Amino acid sequence: MSYVDEVIAQVVEKNPAQPEFHQAVKEVLESLRVVVEANEEKFRKDALLERLVNPERQFMFRVPWVDDNGQVQVNTGYRVQFNSAIGPYKGGLRLHPSVNLGIIKFLGFEQIFKNSLTGLPIGGGKGGSDFDPKGKSDREVMAFCQSFMTELCKYIGADTDVPAGDIGTGAREIGYMFGQYKRIRGVYEGVLTGKGLSYGGSLARTEATGYGLLYITKEMLKSNDIDIAGKTIAVSGAGNVAIYAIQKAQQMGAKVVTCSDSTGWVYDPDGIDVAALKEIKEVKRARLTEYKNYRPNSEYHEGKGVWTVKVDIALPCATQNELDLEDAKALVANGVIAVCEGANMPTTLEATQYLQENKVYFVPGKAANAGGVATSALEMSQNSERLSWTFEEVDAKLQNIMVNIFHNLDDAAKKYGFEGNYVVGANIAGFEKVVDAMTAQGIC
Ligand code: NDP
Repeated sequence: MSYVDEVIAQVVEKNPAQPEFHQAVKEVLESLRVVVEANEEKFRKDALLERLVNPERQFMFRVPWVDDNGQVQVNTGYRVQFNSAIGPYKGGLRLHPSVNLGIIKFLGFEQIFKNSLTGLPIGGGKGGSDFDPKGKSDREVMAFCQSFMTELCKYIGADTDVPAGDIGTGAREIGYMFGQYKRIRGVYEGVLTGKGLSYGGSLARTEATGYGLLYITKEMLKSNDIDIAGKTIAVSGAGNVAIYAIQKAQQMGAKVVTCSDSTGWVYDPDGIDVAALKEIKEVKRARLTEYKNYRPNSEYHEGKGVWTVKVDIALPCATQNELDLEDAKALVANGVIAVCEGANMPTTLEATQYLQENKVYFVPGKAANAGGVATSALEMSQNSERLSWTFEEVDAKLQNIMVNIFHNLDDAAKKYGFEGNYVVGANIAGFEKVVDAMTAQGIC
């Protein structure tokens, strides 16, 4: 059995009931096969892949809090510190009922390569809880966040592990967590990113993941002699990533005709109205059913369906495994040119293969959505300097980073004979730097 297959089999055996983690490891290791085979003897001797797939450290803890009825609730908190070869652990905190250890490990594992691809000195980690902020009062959210941070604060710090937002963790939650960290640890430091502007946040962090997705999509299309202006785009999701992806796509002259939430989706033939979407999702925290009140020409459909619309480009920006083989077939039948992932692992393995076999340009999330974490790292730099950069400065750095990421992964794909395969390119480019640092630091 090859070394890659052996390690995949070990991961499946040792981590039962963690299908998302298995999926992420398979996807990464399969595409690293060529590099691993070229260095098999050394990597085996150093147990390099075994070290890569085992987190350096992982914490699971009880999070008790009191709801508005005086009832004590108990959630489970997680923080997985996966790999610190190239810098302090960095990765978001997901608050969603679906959160379990396997999901946090899949996200943390992916984060290692994503962070490496940014070219910035940040290692990989991820955390969160099965707490659902939806439908909770502000006081309940604060009670949860304070309890969560009371335990988490023992393991994190500006030079060790710097969490950020993710699904369910927005500015409000980061604020409550930061306040509690400061109160317990007694230090004012950049321990979290995604902070509010009045206490150390970075301009352009809110927009960064969505904007970054469009910067890399544009660069990828340009290098294939395609202009993004005039293209029709389907976006899924209606959260942070989706909203700013839609905004930037429109600024680039493309037309975005869809968005979705967990109950339904919108088709707006005239192009999504970003101001309306922001008001519904960011201000009212309401459902997309409301969109029709703002745009009578639009259609609202219950359930799933964004990928059935005829578009040139698809940008999945909601959640993992939201674009499956059926969806990929529908997109290809409708002549899609490119799929670039705003969310983490939104496309199933089968769907990715089908898209690639059908010559659809496919940029994986670990590259395409790296703008968020890259800007978080820029927030860390500003906190360390005790300075704040302007929106334009941060945005210019973000653009540079995304363009560089594309060329790094494109070059890596070409170097190993996989021209145009951006999944292989992203994994190899991310992996090479991490391996180099792990090797230099000895067996640890
Ligand atoms: P948000 O919570 O802001 O938004 C998520 C959106 O996706 C919501 O509109 C949600 O709907 C929708 N959604 C969730 N589950 C489903 C589903 N099963 N079907 C359809 N829609 C669904 O999260 P973000 O925008 O921050 O994150 C989206 C993705 O991007 C995640 O995978 C995240 O890990 C990834 N990501 C985010 C980064 C960031 O900076 N924010 C950085 C890098 C990656 P509803 O409103 O009903 O909940």
